[in-house]
Amino acid sequence: MRSRLLWILLIFLGIGLLALVVRLAWKFLSGLLEGAAARRPVAPAKGARLVRDPVCGTYVDESRALTARRGGTVHHFCSDGCRAAFLARRPRCRRS
Ligand SMILES: [Zn+2]
Repeated sequence: MRSRLLWILLIFLGIGLLALVVRLAWKFLSGLLEGAAARRPVAPAKGARLVRDPVCGTYVDESRALTARRGGTVHHFCSDGCRAAFLARRPRCRRS
């Protein structure tokens, strides 16, 4: 009787372990797929061009970004705060 109980316990343990392994494998596989998708650059909306905010580093839609011109280059910003922070910074040792 005791050994039968032990067997049932073992079977349950086996099922639990199997479920755990399957879950881990699934998590690993979906993680791989998601990781591959995440590594691809974000696809912008049709016709939109993404530009990088030099202050916070986020990518913004060029047509909707705030801009500031410095040294002949137009910089794009995600927000007024980033734009203000950029303008408050001194230009990097570039004199023309
Ligand atoms: Zn920003």
